[in-house]
Amino acid sequence: MTYPAATGDFRPLSDAAPESDAASGPVAERSAVIDLAAIRHNVRHLAAVASPAQVMAVVKADAYGHGAVPVARAALEAGAGWLGVAHISEALALRAAGIEAPLLAWLHTPDSNFGAAVAAGIDIGCSGWELDRIVLAAREQERPARIHLKVDTGLGRNGATMDAWDSLVGEAMEYQDEGLLRVVGIFSHLAVADEPDRPETDEQLAVFREALAIAADAGVDPEVRHLANTPATLSRPDTHFDLVRVGLGIYGLSPFEGQAPAELGLRPAMTVRTLVSHCKDVPAGQGVSYGLNYRTGGASTLGLIPLGYADGVPRVATGGPVRVDGRNYPVVGRIAMDQMVIDLGPRGVSAGGRSLLGAEAVLFGDGSDGGPTAEDWARAAGTNNYEIVTRISPRVPRRYIHEQAAAAERSEP
Ligand SMILES: *Cc1c(COP(=O)(O)O)cnc(C)c1O
Repeated sequence: MTYPAATGDFRPLSDAAPESDAASGPVAERSAVIDLAAIRHNVRHLAAVASPAQVMAVVKADAYGHGAVPVARAALEAGAGWLGVAHISEALALRAAGIEAPLLAWLHTPDSNFGAAVAAGIDIGCSGWELDRIVLAAREQERPARIHLKVDTGLGRNGATMDAWDSLVGEAMEYQDEGLLRVVGIFSHLAVADEPDRPETDEQLAVFREALAIAADAGVDPEVRHLANTPATLSRPDTHFDLVRVGLGIYGLSPFEGQAPAELGLRPAMTVRTLVSHCKDVPAGQGVSYGLNYRTGGASTLGLIPLGYADGVPRVATGGPVRVDGRNYPVVGRIAMDQMVIDLGPRGVSAGGRSLLGAEAVLFGDGSDGGPTAEDWARAAGTNNYEIVTRISPRVPRRYIHEQAAAAERSEP
């Protein structure tokens, strides 16, 4: 079998997208390119929307796959006053990187290291059972804990029920009077803010106000009351209170079905791209990938994309788009651990047509120029955009662009 000489293979133009100027090596072969200018833009935009409320940049789960430390730094630079994570261990990693901003962790187990959290000045979310352990940690560290009391206003996950709220607030205030802790915040989390027509957000808001009133009666004077996630920040100013906790939005993704990020003033920050790793002509009826669930309809050219479910591409997402040479091609056949295939149609590579070996292949990015988006992959996989970006695995190196703010960016609204 003969293939065109290497010189006949695709080479990106030297003035093409910034990712094409990456040095050779693993990062050039496949990477998740994170545009920190987009992160900063999104934070500034969300801060303007939320003002006068402050912004907590939620950087849990390695900043939804974007990289917790670089994203946290960019978010703080762009005006976020707080950081939020799920686990104390995630918060400790940020502190270890030298990040000193106010930082809240809200999801614990009896094995969580409350002592380390107190010692590192990490704010601790408290739904009830944690209180005695937090106080023990404060005694041991000889330092008052900083806690945010969480009330369940309807989501049914963490948070004290309204039945337990009164006594939780009372106990916390006793400990505060003893100097063992400070109730810095009161918070809750919304269940359906991404569906603005549903009535439950109003109901949760009413319960939250009731919880705040009970706390105020008990003498709690929190620095921050917070309820809103990204969809509520964008659609419900009445949920902003003193602080909004935004995750998805800082990554430039839309929480609303049928509404693109640009319509919300957001810019997607992650581009997942690689290079076509094989390009060959095949006859009609060629089966493709395990199970041979796809067969070429006629003589055709197949492109091999060296990303698979080990890289975080959902195995169920056959049909997801890959952009190569200015066109989007759906993945055909089963997605495997390391690779997947696109059908490029009859290019006639073996007859002198240009091979796309080495061409850049983009799974998703900011969607400009008709390129594929995380939403497209979410649709193909039957999931949401949160999961698509978050599950991109550590095998895909992260590459950061625009780490330094340009002069023009500083005057951007
Ligand atoms: C993840 C999370 C957020 C952020 O939600 P987005 O929809 O990504 O903005 C806010 N608050 C809590 C408690 C969370 O767990």
